[in-house]
Amino acid sequence: MELISVIVPCYNEQESLPLFYREITAVTDGMKQKYYNDNIAELNFEFLFINDGSKDDTLKILRELAADDRRVRYVSFSRNFGKEAAMLAGLEQSRGDYCVILDADLQHPPKLIPQMYDYVRSGEYDCAATRRISRKGESKVLSFFARSFYKIINSISQTHIVDGAQDFRFMTRQMVNAILDMPERNRFSKGIFSWVGFDTKFIEVENTERAAGKTTWNFRKLFLYSLEGIFAFSTAPLWLSLIMGIIFCLLALAMVIKTLIFGEAMSGEPVIISLICLIGGIQLFCMGVTGQYISKMYTESKGRPVYIIKETEDTIRNKKRNIPKGLN
Ligand code: UDP
Ligand code: MG
Repeated sequence: MELISVIVPCYNEQESLPLFYREITAVTDGMKQKYYNDNIAELNFEFLFINDGSKDDTLKILRELAADDRRVRYVSFSRNFGKEAAMLAGLEQSRGDYCVILDADLQHPPKLIPQMYDYVRSGEYDCAATRRISRKGESKVLSFFARSFYKIINSISQTHIVDGAQDFRFMTRQMVNAILDMPERNRFSKGIFSWVGFDTKFIEVENTERAAGKTTWNFRKLFLYSLEGIFAFSTAPLWLSLIMGIIFCLLALAMVIKTLIFGEAMSGEPVIISLICLIGGIQLFCMGVTGQYISKMYTESKGRPVYIIKETEDTIRNKKRNIPKGLN
């Protein structure tokens, strides 16, 4: 018997959740039947939803689903902690021999799960993930920045991050445990999935539109998230400040030598003002870069939890059990 944990981060997904539940149960029921009939495996599923501080009726829907279906489990945060925290909570709370993470908005089609399971069960791969090959439906500016981000991070970081790789991943317990062994609080999953190693099969997919509701990502958030990735998986920016420092020292030295030998100094206010601005700017830039690493160390050293759980499915199941007979 094998248990597969389906982990779903949810933030304001009241419209998508019923559609998602219908689709995921159709796929998993079909899978269970097929693998049982073919004598391949006896599969069981748990659906683990993470309510990441939604402000709509997501939690209410999850309570109802958990009350009707024993396979449904949920974890509800005390506030919004972000998708990274939700994915971590899902992996930590999961009990399966395999874990699959996917979005609630059906942008990660559940019908790919059987194919992913086949790749991993074959033993050839430890993980199957999707990689989108088109950026259809995305603005040109965003696509340009996304592509540039992958180019930059792959040229300066030793951890290779595959362009277009998504968080839709089917993993063995061994790989999940390796991910959970990484204690960092600034979590950048795209890097973590790659850093732990293991063999990953990438399934190429087209971009799928959201089933309902709207995305919470905007350009500013994506930009900050990509900087997060760069600072979490590379120390190249520190080298950049060092190299710029060296270049400017050499320039200054060259100017001194030129003045001493040829006796002519550069003069004029504009030259002096622009040099002061340039050097001042570069110093601030370098301080900012160093500051970023210090701020990461600061959050890590505080050791705060990545998320706080307010309620789980046990809360309602226990409540149900505690109701005295005759009162319900
Ligand atoms: N999500 C989350 N916490 C957040 C933002 C998003 O758990 O703070 C979930 C969201 O419910 C969805 C998934 O993460 O299941 C992806 O979010 P979204 O669809 O907004 O991102 P996009 O697909 O546009 O990248
Ligand atoms: Mg989405």
